[in-house]
Amino acid sequence: MPFKARVESEDLKRFKILDQRMLLTADEKKYYKALLKGYEGEVQFDSLTEKLQSDSFILNDLVLEVNHTKFQIDSTIIFQNTYHFFEVKNYEGDYIYDPENFKSGSGKPIQNPLDQLKRSKTLIRQLLQNLGYNLQVEGHVIFINPEFTLLNAPYDLSFIYPSQLNRFLKKLDMKPSRLNNIHIKLANQLVALHQSKVSMIKLPTYEYDQLKKGLNCKGCDSFSVSVQGKKQICNECGYVEMISTAVLRSVEEYKLLFPNWKINSNIIFDWCGGAISKRRIGRTLGKSLKIVGVHQWAVYE
Ligand SMILES: [Zn+2]
Repeated sequence: MPFKARVESEDLKRFKILDQRMLLTADEKKYYKALLKGYEGEVQFDSLTEKLQSDSFILNDLVLEVNHTKFQIDSTIIFQNTYHFFEVKNYEGDYIYDPENFKSGSGKPIQNPLDQLKRSKTLIRQLLQNLGYNLQVEGHVIFINPEFTLLNAPYDLSFIYPSQLNRFLKKLDMKPSRLNNIHIKLANQLVALHQSKVSMIKLPTYEYDQLKKGLNCKGCDSFSVSVQGKKQICNECGYVEMISTAVLRSVEEYKLLFPNWKINSNIIFDWCGGAISKRRIGRTLGKSLKIVGVHQWAVYE
């Protein structure tokens, strides 16, 4: 069990909803796919570090700040004497090494992740020093995708390629380590310092009126669904869901996109595309959300 688990960021969830409910530009779509792929790579790496047996603390996804500079660390493992951190890259295909940029056959150049690694290392050292800890700091770039090859790369111990990953983690796991209260204190401090509200994601701008309305399928995201009694059935994949849970899922999406807006039967009726009666929506909201006010003035929280 990680000391701090990774959760899908609200902005990534928002992007997913926007991808379903509006037409993204080609650039936005590409950016979203890259974010999603990066996240999947990180989750994949988490599943590997989770298997480590050594006495260590794993903290997944930290956004920290030191000297007014914010930085993000994909994965951190605290050992007795060493603070290990990892940048996880889910690149796929052949890339050619260049001190400044990696070049792929087709796509645009990618900044050499060693730059990011060096920067993070300096900032982590500074932070640990400020907090009064004296741990050695080691950083690695993890290339998680088995389809990734980096050509012409110089020998660099900071790069861990897919074919080296298992051996690398085994070696890491054999590190003699015994944690004590000082490490617990550090781990707790890092979790407290983590800025969960800070997002590095640039969302497309959106407005209510431009978004597609309607209930969608939990199984395949399709908006082509039919109502039969208390159930919603997907016309594409056949997935069956209770109307009430489908409505509440939709309410969650609405809340994510418009966190400061009021929730009432009228607006959710519209958001659900008009397929479910206002009375039914009112009942569903009433059962699951806190109600403030009565009759047509009722809003839910
Ligand atoms: Zn479906």
